[in-house]
Amino acid sequence: MSIRIGILGYGNLGRGIECAIKQNTDMELAAVFTRRDPSGVTIQTEGVPVCSVSEAKDWKDKIDVMILCGGSATDLPEQTPEYARMFNVIDSFDTHARIPEHYANVDAAAKEGNKIGIISVGWDPGMFSLNRLYANAILPDGKDYTFWGKGVSQGHSDAIRRVEGVKDAKQYTIPVDTALEAVRNGENPELTTRQKHTRECFVVLEEGADAAKVEEEIKTMPNYFSDYDTTVHFISEEELKRDHSGIPHGGFVLRSGKTGWNGENSHLIEYSLKLDSNPEFTSSVLVAYARAAYRLSQEGQSGCRTVFDIAPAYLSAKSGEELRRTML
Ligand code: NAP
Repeated sequence: MSIRIGILGYGNLGRGIECAIKQNTDMELAAVFTRRDPSGVTIQTEGVPVCSVSEAKDWKDKIDVMILCGGSATDLPEQTPEYARMFNVIDSFDTHARIPEHYANVDAAAKEGNKIGIISVGWDPGMFSLNRLYANAILPDGKDYTFWGKGVSQGHSDAIRRVEGVKDAKQYTIPVDTALEAVRNGENPELTTRQKHTRECFVVLEEGADAAKVEEEIKTMPNYFSDYDTTVHFISEEELKRDHSGIPHGGFVLRSGKTGWNGENSHLIEYSLKLDSNPEFTSSVLVAYARAAYRLSQEGQSGCRTVFDIAPAYLSAKSGEELRRTML
């Protein structure tokens, strides 16, 4: 029997999950749930219903894992504990500073419902976190680096859109090549925020807006841009649509470390991602962890987990025997 998946929230990630399920033959999409009027939400998969979130409780016995695709800022802190009482759940909660609090809430709820909740699954947090952990465990005497990009930052793009005179905008975070090279060369540099990433903004102005004023306001925006070298390009609405409508992202996790009695041997661990579509990749990670949630639940386990707690074999559709034969 295939693993019956529910999608709760139908935005970029929700659409990505629907698409990813097609590549995983041990899974099937059971239903999509939305807070909006379901009649206004059209999905791609024929024969699968779109339901209101208020009906979710009626699906307790018809869904093995509910993948929560709400936003990290306000949706997931509420939704994940709420649905972990009823379903095995997975989310991609990415507010790093609030993960311990989110973990505690989901753990209590999932134990109450005798379900599994795997939180903060994706690439960062997610695959990047795993690679940081592996590298630290292997090279205790070393230094960590994470670079993001080149990619679209939704939060920074939103911040620009809130500037007066801006009609639309896209922001790319770009790692500084010389900094990346210094790390790869084992120089163990101390890097400031400004030395690690630059920010490039593509901005469509409102009719009659003052370009110089907009540029100044973006570049000096605290927390978002003031600590970075920022470039602002003004372009037309058509150009933004034509050249900047994708959601690419990616980055690098590196650790350089030393071994030997006198630290004479250097080692570099590098994991990199280059993603055409951030939500489709994140969704692919979520789907693999949904398989793990299902298996843990079948074993009778409950409570909250993160990527740190899941053994790799639980992610794969292949059997242990096949994995040992083909991939070990
Ligand atoms: P999104 O497209 O904004 O969707 C978020 C929610 O907004 C949806 O679940 C949907 O809920 C609602 N929504 C979507 N389109 C709507 C529309 N046209 N009108 C009204 N409501 C709409 O966000 P996303 O790109 O899927 O990302 C979700 C979260 O994933 C982000 O907040 C981010 O924190 C996280 N993320 C994590 C990673 C990672 O590596 N861990 C990577 C990428 C993203 P309803 O259907 O219920 O209305």
